[in-house]
Amino acid sequence: MSDRIETDVVIVGAGPVGLFAVFELGLLDIRAHLIDILPKVGGQCAELYPEKPIYDIPGFPMVTGQGLVDNLMAQIEPFHPTFHLSEMVETLESLGTAEAPLFRLRTDAGTEFVTKAIIIAAGGGSFQPKKPPIPGIEGFEGSSVFYAVRQMEPFRHKRILIVGGGDSALDWTVNLAPLAKRLTLLHRRDAFRAAPDTVNKMRALVAAGAMDFHLGQVVKLEGKAPVLEGAVVRRDDGSTFTIACDVLLPFFGLTMKLGPLADWGLNLHENLVPVDTEKFETSVPGIFAIGDINSYPGKLKLILSGFHEGALAAQRVFHYVYPDKRLVFQYTTSSTSLQKKLGVHA
Ligand SMILES: Cc1cc2nc3c(=O)[nH]c(=O)nc-3n(C[C@H](O)[C@H](O)[C@H](O)COP(=O)(O)OP(=O)(O)OC[C@H]3O[C@@H](n4cnc5c(N)ncnc54)[C@H](O)[C@@H]3O)c2cc1C
Repeated sequence: MSDRIETDVVIVGAGPVGLFAVFELGLLDIRAHLIDILPKVGGQCAELYPEKPIYDIPGFPMVTGQGLVDNLMAQIEPFHPTFHLSEMVETLESLGTAEAPLFRLRTDAGTEFVTKAIIIAAGGGSFQPKKPPIPGIEGFEGSSVFYAVRQMEPFRHKRILIVGGGDSALDWTVNLAPLAKRLTLLHRRDAFRAAPDTVNKMRALVAAGAMDFHLGQVVKLEGKAPVLEGAVVRRDDGSTFTIACDVLLPFFGLTMKLGPLADWGLNLHENLVPVDTEKFETSVPGIFAIGDINSYPGKLKLILSGFHEGALAAQRVFHYVYPDKRLVFQYTTSSTSLQKKLGVHA
């Protein structure tokens, strides 16, 4: 049976940028529902690096991925957003006009929304790890093979093999080396895509004898699934050797699957949604794209950029939701009406 919900805005994606958009919309009296494929909120911050420190959120010298999500949830609490988790948006139908947009949106769980605007904050789409082509690796997944680190503690005193040369591989190498029984980094070549500073930290650990670094590719896993005992590695010259390990962490990047969003008739460019930089609106009036999913000249895939984009998109959404009202710019520090909405002013 389908649930039918009428709302001002549907936000697709409950990552940090979708969450902060709720705040900016809420200040303008705009109600929002959020949909996310994942069973929890927080997007990449909660899913890929909950315990890692982030250093470039304005006003927070340091906050972990999960810490930021928790703070965002506290910040939007006064606006009572409704979450539809473990649901994926599927079909979109336009019921309105360019001047007065109205959409019908359905999820794979049968929830139906009729909404005046849609904000796509879907990040990299439904992100899925690229898996290495190692025979039988599925049998070890979730027990000895992991494509993301949600918590570091389960890896304490383990023999860890990390494979890859990007930011995730090098970041986790540096973070996990101190608590591993022994950590080995394996990469195809002695050149890295990761930030040079992290690469230098890794090389210092190797020089200090605190971890190992080898060149090659994993071709076979040893052990009886799901218990891993080692990985057979092939060098460039075809020779092989075995690295004893309890845990394998392959970090080969993520594939971006836009899924049904790709069929919504929006202009797309390399799986991203082009927007203007005044309103962050897409080629379809009433549909906005903010955060990692959008593209425009000079785009930086940073959380702080997504926050700014959400604030500007909300201003335009206001005109669709309240076509007859004038939008007055106000500061939260000095506006008692904004403070009332936030529950901080009697
Ligand atoms: C290891 C790592 C470290 C990082 N460090 C930093 C840093 O220090 N500073 C910084 O600013 N940025 C950092 N980033 C980047 C930052 O995490 C992203 O810029 C940010 O998460 C983007 O937020 P978002 O809300 O746009 O998208 P996401 O966080 O990707 O969230 C998008 C959400 O949309 C959902 N979704 C996607 N498609 C659908 C669909 N069809 N239906 C329903 N839901 C859908 C996804 O499940 C996801 O929850 C880092 C990223 C990684 C991987």
